[in-house]
Amino acid sequence: MTNLPAPAPRLFLSPPHIGPAEKQYVDEAFATNWVAPAGPHLTAFEQEMCAASGAAAAVAVSSGTAALHLAVRLVGVRPGDEVLCSTFTFVASANPILYEGGRPVFVDADRASWNMDPALLAGALEARAREGRLPRAILVSDIYGQCADWDPILAAAQRHGVPVIEDAAEAVGATYRGRWAGTFGAIGVYSFNGNKILSTSGGGMVVSPDRALVDRAHKLATQAREAAPHYEHAELGYNYRLSNVLAGIGRGQLAWLEQRIDRRRAICALYQSELGGLPGVAFMPEAAYGRSTRWLTCLTIDPTVAGTDRDAVLTALEAANIEARPLWKPLHLQPFYRGAECIGGAVSADLFARGLCLPSGSGMTEADLQRVVRTVRRTFGRA
Ligand SMILES: *Cc1c(COP(=O)(O)O)cnc(C)c1O
Repeated sequence: MTNLPAPAPRLFLSPPHIGPAEKQYVDEAFATNWVAPAGPHLTAFEQEMCAASGAAAAVAVSSGTAALHLAVRLVGVRPGDEVLCSTFTFVASANPILYEGGRPVFVDADRASWNMDPALLAGALEARAREGRLPRAILVSDIYGQCADWDPILAAAQRHGVPVIEDAAEAVGATYRGRWAGTFGAIGVYSFNGNKILSTSGGGMVVSPDRALVDRAHKLATQAREAAPHYEHAELGYNYRLSNVLAGIGRGQLAWLEQRIDRRRAICALYQSELGGLPGVAFMPEAAYGRSTRWLTCLTIDPTVAGTDRDAVLTALEAANIEARPLWKPLHLQPFYRGAECIGGAVSADLFARGLCLPSGSGMTEADLQRVVRTVRRTFGRA
């Protein structure tokens, strides 16, 4: 028998970071027998998220995807309706358009923020207005913890009277000109999935400045039950509510959100100082208009000057038992969305070809970070 050194423990991209507060709230849910999709944690979590975000009203649901489905339904997307939406994002952002029979038309990202290009959006709306066929809605993702450039996006949407859904699934706690992500559209959506910066293991939320819209979302999320002593139903509903137990986790997470954001930003700053000088390496820009949470640290590698490339770095990280990923594959390049229209597309295709995200969990130690840094630097031939 040989004594092999123990393999380095796996470093994950963005694992949950749970503290003692979460456990306390969960214990409280058990002690009071509120193990249901209703209860005091659920109401408190919604109120606390409103206080933190500045949204007027919120309803907690089982996932960000469920929240997006409710949002698409609430803005009135019907079969055949067009929705202009981000292509550089996770597939869950656009799929709910299809749940209602709508037709996504993708819009490319810009280089300044990696979010939807406001000029492309404005141009697409102008062209459609001239032809008398405005889309039913606009669905914009705030990507990797950074807000889209909301002023020009909202100005274009308002000029044509088209409602905006904000997919802030990746941007809980990010700000744009001092305001929280999620509060810019008619409806905002958060995700509390296990890999997000605020995790309930799984969960999501619909927020809005319009309390009536949130009341509608609440009703649809609870089987569209009418106010009656018996079970009365006048429209199609869903079982989308979050559990009171998981809302307890959310309350504990929210109490520590600012510290988690600070840590993710510090992790990104360390990667920038240790890797920013490597040839061909460029980090996701932080736009001057707001604060990115740096949910994930993202960078691109230009293989014409790096002497290596993105895939070689990913392979080296995997060999060191470190989880890293290419950036989002644009939705207009996904086999499932083959044939869908995309306005522009070269920027997101290029980000996908050359970009990756590094482990960014707020629970990472300095030694974890150095392990990643060393592995990447070695791929560039640096000590
Ligand atoms: C995570 C994510 C979603 C989906 O949220 P879930 O809670 O996983 O359903 C939607 N949009 C974007 C951009 C996401 O990153």
